[in-house]
Amino acid sequence: PLTAPDLHAWIRAFADRVAEERAYLTKLDSAIGDGDHGQNMNRGLSHAVDQIDDDASMSDTMRTVAMALISKTGGASGPLYGTLFMDAGKTTAEHEELGTPEVAALFRAGLNGVQRRGKAEPNDKTMVDALLPAVEALEDAAENGTPLSEAIQQAANAAKKGMEATTPLEARKGRASYLGERSKGHQDPGATSTYYLLDAAATAWS
Ligand code: ADP
Ligand code: MG
Ligand code: MG
Repeated sequence: PLTAPDLHAWIRAFADRVAEERAYLTKLDSAIGDGDHGQNMNRGLSHAVDQIDDDASMSDTMRTVAMALISKTGGASGPLYGTLFMDAGKTTAEHEELGTPEVAALFRAGLNGVQRRGKAEPNDKTMVDALLPAVEALEDAAENGTPLSEAIQQAANAAKKGMEATTPLEARKGRASYLGERSKGHQDPGATSTYYLLDAAATAWS
């Protein structure tokens, strides 16, 4: 089961992955957006990592990360990832530690927050398309009693598939939607960073 240090490790792993893939995220965003997704996410996450307090509780950590992302990321993704962490973090308040059912609830709350804020539906070619299959995989795993290390790997695999499946879609939300049909044939940058979010958890919690 997870405690606060595991959440810290997850956020650091996510920040490291985004830093590594910054140029790639920006390349994806140059094709269908304004070419700043790598820079936006890297700025927000470096600030979040700086703000993490090693002694903080799970819910305080998640709130700190949310505030850091909201204040420094910018773009559409800043408030969306901020809301994801804010709402996900609220579910941790009543737990000493998190197993598969609690992690499923955490990501479900994060997804609900993203959808409440951004109004994206599945197949709109957004971060929802990576996050929703991950949540569904975690909920299936919780029902089956799958241990967390395995469940989170299944969720990362599902997020990867969801990310890849954004390529043929026409964008219906965000800047990419301005391109209409021309947004087809490109992988969504936000779905890509959301896959990194899940893959970072799989790495940190295995
Ligand atoms: P901006 O488009 O403002 O420059 P970013 O480049 O940082 O912001 O982020 C773009 C990503 O944000 C998109 O690839 C998409 O996944 C995500 N996004 C944009 N609008 C929405 C929305 N309404 N709901 C969910 N995700 C969205
Ligand atoms: Mg952009
Ligand atoms: Mg921008």
